[in-house]
Amino acid sequence: MDYRGIFEDAVDSLRQEKRYRVFADLERIAGRFPRAVYRDASDNAREITIWCSNDYLGMGQNETVIAAMQETAGKLGVGAGGTRNISGTNRPLVELERSLADLHRKEAALVFTSGFVSNEAAISTIARLLPDCVIFSDQLNHASMIQGVRQSGMQKHIFRHNDVAHLRELLAATDRKRPKLIVFESVYSMDGDIAPVAQICDLAEEFGALTYIDEVHAVGMYGPRGGGIAERDGLMERIDIIEGTLAKGFGAMGGYIAANKAIIDAVRSYAPEFIFTTALPPALCAAARTSIEHLKVSGVEREMQQRQARLTKAILADAGLPVMETPTHIVPLIVGDARLCKAASDMLMDKHNIYIQPINYPTVPRGTERLRITPTPLHTDEMIFELRHALVSVWASLEIPRVQADPAITASKLTSGDLTLPTVGG
Ligand SMILES: *Cc1c(COP(=O)(O)O)cnc(C)c1O
Repeated sequence: MDYRGIFEDAVDSLRQEKRYRVFADLERIAGRFPRAVYRDASDNAREITIWCSNDYLGMGQNETVIAAMQETAGKLGVGAGGTRNISGTNRPLVELERSLADLHRKEAALVFTSGFVSNEAAISTIARLLPDCVIFSDQLNHASMIQGVRQSGMQKHIFRHNDVAHLRELLAATDRKRPKLIVFESVYSMDGDIAPVAQICDLAEEFGALTYIDEVHAVGMYGPRGGGIAERDGLMERIDIIEGTLAKGFGAMGGYIAANKAIIDAVRSYAPEFIFTTALPPALCAAARTSIEHLKVSGVEREMQQRQARLTKAILADAGLPVMETPTHIVPLIVGDARLCKAASDMLMDKHNIYIQPINYPTVPRGTERLRITPTPLHTDEMIFELRHALVSVWASLEIPRVQADPAITASKLTSGDLTLPTVGG
C-alpha cells in the first residue's frame, strides 16, 4: 500500500484547484506593528507591512498587556498544570471570566482554549441538552459553528444569509412546542456585513427560540465598552448566549461564551471540549483580561480603527480598485479568480513588501476570491497611500480589470469629521 502517495495525491488535487495553502513565516515586531520580519522559502529575512492581521486593534503589542503576561508568568509560572476540574483553575482565569461576564452584562462566562472550540462545544452541548431541539443556522456561519451544529446531531435548518423573511418561514413551519436555537454571527468576517440582530431577536421572541450570536469580529471593536454589535445596538440582554474570541480584537488567545448561570453551568458540566483539556495558562488569562479592561474604558483604538478603515476604502476606491462597501472595519478587495488572487498576493509581497493573504474557496464562494484587508489603528495614512500605490501597480502588471469607483465610498464622501484624529481617552 502506497500510504505516502495517497496523502501526496490528496494535496496535489488542492494544488490543481489553486487551493494549496502556503503559510507566511512572520516575526511581528512588538512596538512596531504592523511591521514584521518575513522569511521567504530560502529563509532570507526582510521587513514587511502586514495588512491582513486579525489583531485588529494592535492589542497584542499593547505595553500593559505584554507587562501583564510577563509579570504573571514570573509569579505563577507558565502552564495551568491541569484541566479546569483537576488543579488547572487558576486565579487569573477566574478573574478573566468575571471580566467577560461584566463586558456582556451576563451572569457568567466560560473560557475555552479557542473561539473555534467555544462554538463547537457550546452549540453542540446546548442543542443536545434541549430535547428534540431544532437549530436555525445562517448560511454563512463560520466553520466552527457548522461543526457545533453537526456535532449536536439535532435537526437543522439553514436560513439564507441575513434573510429574516426566510428565517421566519422556517420558524413558522416548525412545531411550536419544539425547543429552537438560532445561531448567527454579528459581523461576518469575509464580506464585513452585519446581521439584522434586532429583527432576529424579535423573531426569537415571537417563536420562543434561544439566540446564540458569534461576536468574534466585533468584540473589543464595537459598542461603548467593546461589548460588540449587540452592545452597540442595546441588544445584549435580548441575546441568550454571546460567543467571542480573545484572539482577534483583544490580541491574545482563547474563546468564550457569556450567558445566564444555568446555561454556563450546563456547558461547563457537559461539554467534553471544555472538560477534558488543560485550562488556559495564567499569564495568557492575565494578558487577555488586561486587554478587555483597557478596551472597556478606552475608545481611541476603536475610533482610530474605524477612521483608518474608512480612509483605506476611500483611497482604494478612488484608484478604481474593486473595494466592497462594508459597514465595518473589514475591507474586501474582490479579484474573482483563484490564480490571479494568489498571484496578486505574491507580487505584493515580492515587489512591495506588503503582506495580504489571498482568500480563496472554500473560505469564500468561487468567483469571489479576494484580498481581505484589515486596517488597524496602527496603519498610518502613509502606509495606506503605499498600499494604494502597490495595488495599482499589481493590478496593472496582472491586467486585473479596474472598476468605476463606487460613489458610495470614494474620498469625496469622507467628511472632515471622518478624518479627525481621535484623541487619547476620547
Ligand atoms: C476566527 C473565528 C472563530 C474562531 O476563533 P479562534 O479564537 O480563532 O479559534 C470563530 N468564529 C468566527 C466567525 C471566526 O472568524
